[in-house]
Amino acid sequence: MTSAFSPAVTATAPAKINLILRVGAPDESGYHPLVTVFQAVDLWDEVAIVSADADSLVIEGAGNLSGVPTDRTNIVWKAVDALAHVRGLREPLAITITKTIPVAGGMAGGSADAAATLVALNELWQVGLTSPQILDMAATLGADVPFSLLGGTALGEGRGDLLTPLIRQQPLHLVVVTAPLELSTPRVYKTLDDLRAEGQGTLTPLSSSELDVVIGDDVGELIGVLSNDLQPAALKMAPIVQKNLDVLSEAGALAHLVSGSGPTVFGLCVDATHVADVANFLLQRGFSATPTTSTPLGARLTSSLSSAREAH
Ligand code: ATP
Repeated sequence: MTSAFSPAVTATAPAKINLILRVGAPDESGYHPLVTVFQAVDLWDEVAIVSADADSLVIEGAGNLSGVPTDRTNIVWKAVDALAHVRGLREPLAITITKTIPVAGGMAGGSADAAATLVALNELWQVGLTSPQILDMAATLGADVPFSLLGGTALGEGRGDLLTPLIRQQPLHLVVVTAPLELSTPRVYKTLDDLRAEGQGTLTPLSSSELDVVIGDDVGELIGVLSNDLQPAALKMAPIVQKNLDVLSEAGALAHLVSGSGPTVFGLCVDATHVADVANFLLQRGFSATPTTSTPLGARLTSSLSSAREAH
């Protein structure tokens, strides 16, 4: 139950796609080193947190939410515990996650929820962590959580948590196509390992010319560098993904790629009109298509403690 005069603080964090995803062979601990270019997209999960008499978690939003845990295994509780540890005090919370990001879709929805939780709770509890301190804490929660905080465009190395922010001037126009199934990220990596022959998986750093293309305005050149090492594994595990790529091509998208570990795919378009045409083509044929753009933003407060008190 929510306490009598406790205001809710809300924060939001974006989904991501990977414009480039190179995966190296696993190290001794089983982790795959990455060279990736993350791009935040304009699909947002929101987390609302209020002090309460007992912990509770509600998941809201459209789409199939059955894959989102409502128990202690939800990543938002990991974020709460990390912040409580630094604060030295853990008080009960009522948390509501409003999901827009496809669940287990390769768009880092759970990571977005963890990032939004850190931002909201830092405000609610007035912990006073700086952005770099929150970023450090994010890395302890999951490899994609630092990017969910940062947003925009970034080069990701290591496990994807060593970030170099990149500035793109022009927005990317995208159609995101979800599949009615979930792919477990660890299983997609395992499938990639099985598909690769012994000794394969040498990681190539991004060249300076590739970086120029990523931050440049030439969509034609960008198409030439889009790549995802996990795509063959996602296709093997979920043949429907190929159907979704094919229909994007049929609809006239400039390029298409699996997002992260899939099964979500995205198509790249010229502008908003092209996006609408491609999305309509898909929707008329019964595919799930969401028009979106890239965003330069990352996780941010949408209702602070003071605005929540004023609204009360
Ligand atoms: P990534 O690309 O970061 O590997 P993803 O986008 O493919 O992840 P998520 O939506 O983050 O997938 O979900 C992955 C798994 O994490 C889910 O199957 C679910 O069991 C678990 N999970 C824990 N907390 C959450 C959350 N808040 N939202 C979604 N999934 C969560």
